[in-house]
Amino acid sequence: MALEEYKRKRRFEETPEPPPKVESKAGHRFVVQKHDATRLHYDFRLEMEGVLKSWAVPKGPSLDPNDKRLAMQVEDHPVSYFDFEGIIPENNYGAGTVMVWDVGTWQPLSPVPIEGKYVPGTEAEAAAMLAKGDLKFRLKGKKLNGDFALVKMKGRRPGSKGNEWLLIKKHDDSAVEGYDIDDYDESVLSKRSLAEIADDAGSKEWRSRPSGSHGKLKAAWLADAVAKLDKKKLEEKNTGKKAAKKKQKN
Ligand code: MN
Repeated sequence: MALEEYKRKRRFEETPEPPPKVESKAGHRFVVQKHDATRLHYDFRLEMEGVLKSWAVPKGPSLDPNDKRLAMQVEDHPVSYFDFEGIIPENNYGAGTVMVWDVGTWQPLSPVPIEGKYVPGTEAEAAAMLAKGDLKFRLKGKKLNGDFALVKMKGRRPGSKGNEWLLIKKHDDSAVEGYDIDDYDESVLSKRSLAEIADDAGSKEWRSRPSGSHGKLKAAWLADAVAKLDKKKLEEKNTGKKAAKKKQKN
């Protein structure tokens, strides 16, 4: 069953991460989360087959076609994970701060370019490319745009788990030579840096923002995600207060 590994690794009474649920609706969103766990890394996730197909990218994605980023495929995550930003408490799997670094939509590309250019592909082509270990896709995000490939590394090295892929930017108008990911430490959902998200948890209080501070969000689903995040934070704040009151009584 899908998401079995996701479920097995987590204690949902302790982590604020969403529970495992396979969606029946097909979607084409992607998310990149910056995750300050034992080692800082970026999690690259594509919505596919009712889940988020996920890769941990130690150095993060790059817009420079010369960078071939190691991407370790990890367990599928539930689609609702795509707007998860906050803290995974100590002693839990993946403990640390999570930032929604980029969100957007993706589109499968046809495996064979036409006159040197990649053209949109079908759902079936995407599934076949994923199974084959050579997935080509186009991203339309806030930070990441253009054509990419995720290529599974063949020939196992000693100690390798066989889950190693490379995330590679294709040459196109969105390519940026010398791209430095460290220039972009800001959440696309909350505009906070990783340190600010971590600080918020330290005080056990979400920083409140004036309403309407998100500006105009073009994509309806993104506006929806941000609204959901705000609601979740408010709920967490209230739950925290309730818990504090309960403690006082006892
Ligand atoms: Mn991670």
